This record gives sequence, structure tokens and C-alpha cells, in this order.
Amino acid sequence: MPGLFLYFYFMKTAQLHSIFLQFPEICTDTRKIKENSIFFALKGENFNGNKYASVALKNGAAYAVIDEKEYAESDKHILVDDVLKALQELAFFHRNHSNAKVIGLTGSNGKTTTKELINAVLSKKYRTVATKGNLNNHIGVPLTLLSIKEDTEIAIVEMGANHQKEIEFLCSLAQPDFGYITNFGKAHIEGFGSEEGVIKGKSELYDFLIKNDKHIFMNADDPIQLQKLGGYIKKYGFSTDKKDFYKIEFLGANPFVKVGFEDNDIESQLIGSYNFTNCAAAILMGKYFNVPIDKIKEAIESYSPTNNRSQIIRRNKHQIILDAYNANPTSMKAALENFSQMEGNHKIAFLGDMFELGSIAPIEHQNIANLATKLKFDEVVLVGENFNRVDTNLKKYNSFEELKNFLNDNQLNSESLILIKGSRGMALERILDII
Ligand code: ATP
Ligand code: MG
Repeated sequence: MPGLFLYFYFMKTAQLHSIFLQFPEICTDTRKIKENSIFFALKGENFNGNKYASVALKNGAAYAVIDEKEYAESDKHILVDDVLKALQELAFFHRNHSNAKVIGLTGSNGKTTTKELINAVLSKKYRTVATKGNLNNHIGVPLTLLSIKEDTEIAIVEMGANHQKEIEFLCSLAQPDFGYITNFGKAHIEGFGSEEGVIKGKSELYDFLIKNDKHIFMNADDPIQLQKLGGYIKKYGFSTDKKDFYKIEFLGANPFVKVGFEDNDIESQLIGSYNFTNCAAAILMGKYFNVPIDKIKEAIESYSPTNNRSQIIRRNKHQIILDAYNANPTSMKAALENFSQMEGNHKIAFLGDMFELGSIAPIEHQNIANLATKLKFDEVVLVGENFNRVDTNLKKYNSFEELKNFLNDNQLNSESLILIKGSRGMALERILDII
């Protein structure tokens, strides 16, 4: 009897929700328990949260949600079938009982930056919540939804994916009213199968919005977005020159991205011309939600990135563009092209391996090495097993350790402009400790 099953299912989630309304803080890590929170005993490859439920309660959690009977030691232990599912269902339930408008964000590159910019702009006029840091997956999205308060007006939810149907699932939880895709690039090819696979996977956000008659923000200069959304009515976009869309102009990146909109020059603290569309998306949404233009300008101008994302740093006599947060062929190409346009006496690019590319890894690393050669920087240093295999005259090292030994013996003498970019696993920010 499916009807009866549904009844019990909603009872359970509804009960959990009424507890959540009394204790509206969720914790999943016993090392960071907050007083009067609800602990969700999630499982990972190497840990079982059930084992820590009692510790969580001892450390101040009001309740602990668990899914293994033997750990149910008190009436503060809430037993469910599956903790992760319970968290997701609670998030869905909570979202559906809130009045907040939800903006869903996905794309291959620039989600977090765009999310921060949108939040900076919209919080000038509205009570907003947004994804914390990069918590954009099947756990992070529920946590973001559960951060929606009774008076929250807009929630900005970053959604990440490395395989098909993931965005569809995250949309089913977040039920976005609006959505924006930053771009379609060569990221996570391993999980998506191909570039077409990436487009299909990321487009699940558009598919959801179209199916549910919701609103779409778009970059009208992106041919893929234009083609996909051509006939759709509820779309609002920006372009540098297409009519019927907001005209948002790229005024340069020297080194910081400057944007022109309605007679205003907006000077961001973001480097890399690729950050133009990230700013433009935030301006577009500010405009749509009637944030005054001087507030939009103020918000974008005061946002500066953290966490190794396109930061400019001075170290000794060098100026460094630290973009060691992550890399894939699209963002690597954008970073190199941007670097080639920057002014500097002695330019050095340190490039680390790009992960999760599957079978296209050899060709993509080769392409980047070729591009770096063509752009004629003073020096290019490649690091990692993939880069070490390419056919090139550039300096290359199989590992960070090898690079470290080299740098310890050969300090960079001249005043240099340095680009550091590689996948997260390469942790190339370690170069800062040696130069
Ligand atoms: P993740 O998949 O890790 O969540 P993300 O999509 O949130 O990444 P950000 O953290 O905002 O992306 O940016 C990561 C890096 O991607 C930046 O440091 C920059 O090199 C590059 N990048 C940012 N925006 C763009 C863009 N619009 N196009 C291409 N590359 C970009
Ligand atoms: Mg992110």
C-alpha cells in the first residue's frame, strides 16, 4: 500500500522537522559540535558516525540521528533507516516549508566565486543565506537548505557534480526558483564521459527549471546557453553586445577585472578575464531583484577572493597570482591566456597536473604544454605525473618533491610575476614556502 507508506514517511520527516525547528543547527562532525545542535551520524568510507553519537550528545548536541540500533542508547538518539536520506528528506521538507526563493548555481568553473558575488550583491537588500565555502554536494546542499531561517528571503545554493543525474537530484532537494550555469567546460570528464556529457549533466539545472516553469539567468554570449534556451520565455541574460539582454561590458583585466554597466565602472578585486562573467551574473541578478546600482557596485568592489582562488600575493620581491585552488583544461587555458596579457618583467608559470580527466588526460596536458610554449613566458615549470609525460622542451618534474629540491638549489633571482595553478590534489600553494 504505497499510500500508507507515504503517510509514515511524512510523519517521520515531519516529526524530525519539528525537532529541527527547536534546534535549528545541524552538525556532522563531533569535533565541531555546537551547543543544542542536532548531530547527524553520517557514514563515510572510513568512518561510521553512529559510533560518535554519544560523544556528540556529551559535547552538547541536543539530539543525535543514527541508523544503527545498537547505538541507540538514550531517548536523545533518533533512529532512522538511513541517516543521509533522513538529512536529505529533512532538507527537502524544510525548503518546501520556507518562503525563501532559491537560486541554484552550477557549472564547470566559477561556481563558488559567482555564489559569493551574488550573495554580496543580494545581501545589500535582502536577508540571504548561501552555501558555506564549497559545500556543494549531496550533503552540502541539504546543509545549505537547512540554514534557511524563517525570515530568509533568498537562498543561493551552489551545486557541484561530477557525474550525470547528480544535478537533477540536487534540484529535486533544493527546488530552485531561479538558476544560473556559470559555464560548460572540461572538468570532471572522467565522471561525465565527454564534453557533451558535461553539457548534459550541468544542463539538468535548466531542465528542472524549464519543466517546472521557473526562471533562468543566462550568459547570452555563451553559444551553448543561447542554443539551449533560445525558445524559453522566462530567461534574463547579460551580454556584451546582444540586444534584448542587459549590456554588461568587459572593460579589461589589468590585473583586476573592470566591468561597465549603466554608466558605472565597477572595479572588482578579481583577476583573470574569466571572472568577468562571474561579476556579470551577480550584476544581472542584482538588477533583476532591484538592488540599487550603487549597492551592486559597492558589493562587487568590496569582494575579495580567499582560499587560493585567483589571489594576488606579494612574496619577497615577487608578485604571485595564486590560483592553486583547482584546475581543469578550461580554467588552465583561461588562466594562461590571462597571464600572457599581464605586464611583468620576468614571467614564470608553475603548472600542476589536472585531475579527473580520464582518458583525455594525456592529450589535455599536452595541449596545455603546447599553449604554454606558444605564449612564450620567460619560464614554465610543469609539475606532476601527467605533465611529466608530455612531449615538450619545458622544464618538468614528476612530483612536488622534485620541484622542491630544484627550487631549494636554484632560487628565483629576478623580480618575477608568477602564476601558480594546478588541481587541488597538487596543493601547489606549497611553492610559496620555497620561493
Ligand atoms: P569547484 O568545482 O571546486 O566547486 P567552482 O566552480 O566553485 O569550483 P571557483 O572556486 O569559483 O569554481 O573557482 C575555481 C577556479 O576556477 C578559479 O580560481 C579560476 O581559476 C577558475 N574560474 C573561475 N571562474 C571561471 C570561469 N567563469 N571560467 C573559467 N574558469 C574560471
Ligand atoms: Mg565551488
